[in-house]
Amino acid sequence: PTDLNQLADEYLRLAYHGLRAKDKTFNATLKPEFDPSLPPVAVIAQDLGRVLLNLLTNAFYAVKQRQQKGEPGYAPTVSVSTRRVGDDVEIRVRDNGTGMPESVQAKIFQPFFTTKPTGEGTGLGLSLSYDIVTQGHGGTLAVESREGEGTEFVISLPV
Ligand code: ADP
Ligand code: MG
Repeated sequence: PTDLNQLADEYLRLAYHGLRAKDKTFNATLKPEFDPSLPPVAVIAQDLGRVLLNLLTNAFYAVKQRQQKGEPGYAPTVSVSTRRVGDDVEIRVRDNGTGMPESVQAKIFQPFFTTKPTGEGTGLGLSLSYDIVTQGHGGTLAVESREGEGTEFVISLPV
């Protein structure tokens, strides 16, 4: 049984500091919003950690991309929240980055699908994440995104 609040917090910091190690000028606001009464959940922590790292790496990339457009007053923000919903726990990873058009959203879970330049993305992160959450843990992985506004991924796991 794993404390998902602790796992999510660890990976939020890991992803952010990993990025800042490569680009010291990059700053984002991190918003951890953890349900303190979240029950421990039986997960393969290493695998779920990889899912979180994939989602968070994408989120930071998306806010960085949007920041480079130079909109006045834009404040890059990445949130991770947890909550219990009936017999499930949810982990949400949300960013106010570039967002995605429907045409991209339709393909993101396919292996090797990427919109990133060669060398910056393999297109495997989300397909792997999808398999880990669904086949590996009996959960679901869903996305909601608006182009120009941001994206939210929802991991749902049975307790
Ligand atoms: P990669 O990051 O290597 O491109 P992924 O499987 O992680 O591969 O993601 C596939 C594609 O989904 C990305 O190239 C990008 O177009 C889109 N995507 C994923 N997460 C986000 C996000 N948070 N915001 C905007 N686009 C995203
Ligand atoms: Mg990725």
